[in-house]
Amino acid sequence: MLNKVLIANRGEIAVRIVRACQELGIKSVVAYSEADRDSLAVRLADEAVCIGPAAAAKSYLNPPALITAALITGCDGVHPGYGFLSENPYFAEMCADVKLTFVGPSAETMRLMGDKAIGRQTMRAAGVPTVPGSEGELRNLEEAIDIARQIGYPVLLKPSAGGGGRGMRVAYDESDLVRAYPTARAEAEAAFGRGDLLLEKYLTRVRHVEIQVLADRYGHAIHLGERDCSAQRRHQKIVEEAPSPIVTPEVRARMGADAVRGIASIGYVNAGTLEFLMDQEGNYYFIEMNTRIQVEHPVTEMVTGVDLVRWQLLIASGERLTLQQNDIKISRHAVECRINAEDPERDFLPAGGEVEFYLPPGGPGVRVDSHLYAGYTPPRHYDSLLAKIITSGETRDDALNRMRRALNECVITGIKTTIPFQLALIDDPEFRAARHHTAYVGELLRTWKEERSALTAV
Ligand code: ADP
Repeated sequence: MLNKVLIANRGEIAVRIVRACQELGIKSVVAYSEADRDSLAVRLADEAVCIGPAAAAKSYLNPPALITAALITGCDGVHPGYGFLSENPYFAEMCADVKLTFVGPSAETMRLMGDKAIGRQTMRAAGVPTVPGSEGELRNLEEAIDIARQIGYPVLLKPSAGGGGRGMRVAYDESDLVRAYPTARAEAEAAFGRGDLLLEKYLTRVRHVEIQVLADRYGHAIHLGERDCSAQRRHQKIVEEAPSPIVTPEVRARMGADAVRGIASIGYVNAGTLEFLMDQEGNYYFIEMNTRIQVEHPVTEMVTGVDLVRWQLLIASGERLTLQQNDIKISRHAVECRINAEDPERDFLPAGGEVEFYLPPGGPGVRVDSHLYAGYTPPRHYDSLLAKIITSGETRDDALNRMRRALNECVITGIKTTIPFQLALIDDPEFRAARHHTAYVGELLRTWKEERSALTAV
């Protein structure tokens, strides 16, 4: 078993990992930047080490600083959380070089899946359906035009090294594509250090459905069903749920088997997620794999009763995954709202300030993963996630009604949050009827803003 783990992350996920370590009797060391000196993770962990200035490039994205912190505190493992270096194969390799166990898959599998073009080819070779599009990376504009003519418009240009929903461009016809190609390349180069693009059919009115997997190093792998993350704003998830209201047990079994076969083909180890788009007819297409724990993992934990972060640590420690596929029973429904420090009335403008008062919701079926406390000022240098509120219930409606109660109960003063919009979303008739798709929140937001401004004008 790992003895002491360095947490190479911050915010709510650092708190989540500290908690899992404590429950397993593993000592935790939080690596923090100068801006995170007052963070909750620092207070809760056994030890904390400052790894550099606020700028992520000089702290959370700086492998030598993190590795040194792990070594001087006598850690034998590193948990990368999500974001930052969590999907960086070089970091995983550096950890291995100095005999630190990286809590995640091997650098080799991260490299395969970190590149969307290679990831797609690999999954296709394992018989997993993928979105129609380029075989691998596009060689030039002419190739993009050729493929688009074959598969038909609209098409999507996607940075091969991309993430976080950034840098994607839709082209509705050939002149669009000709215009978008150089801009997309330049943007990808600036954002991800690589201009490589792939081209996919742009699927409309689709759902985002992803499968959670766990695999140990002895070749045993299972899936834990799906999460539906179709409630997105600008390709970023804001409300997630499990199970997906549109996935039948039969489709779940088929997708799950595809996912397990896909990861077995690359010898994947630890927790991971395969993301798919699903059309109205229930056809699904792989888009990418995330080789780390995801923000929305709690909804899966709520409906399966399986602690995913605990399993990440156990698997990294060399333990066997004792869960069998038959042990995974999905008997409830869970919903998660990502509470961000953003003003939904001003186009989700990042909001700052000190949290004057904080009262998280409670009661039956409510879980809050957060690093907030009263008097805390979230640093502006990082993402805007303040808290995740997760509710469960016997049915989807129960979970959503409970979410309404939890959002109404939650008090965060001194800083604007996304709660007002999430309250509207969970009671929206289309969302309640589960008829939404990945572009729906954008549409709803427009009417919501009009209604709100009409209200304030009165
Ligand atoms: P990232 O890694 O940047 O998050 P993904 O490939 O995971 O990018 O896609 C993020 C979101 O973008 C998806 O959930 C979906 O809403 C949208 N998207 C991605 N690929 C397609 C596609 N081929 N057609 C339509 N929407 C897509």
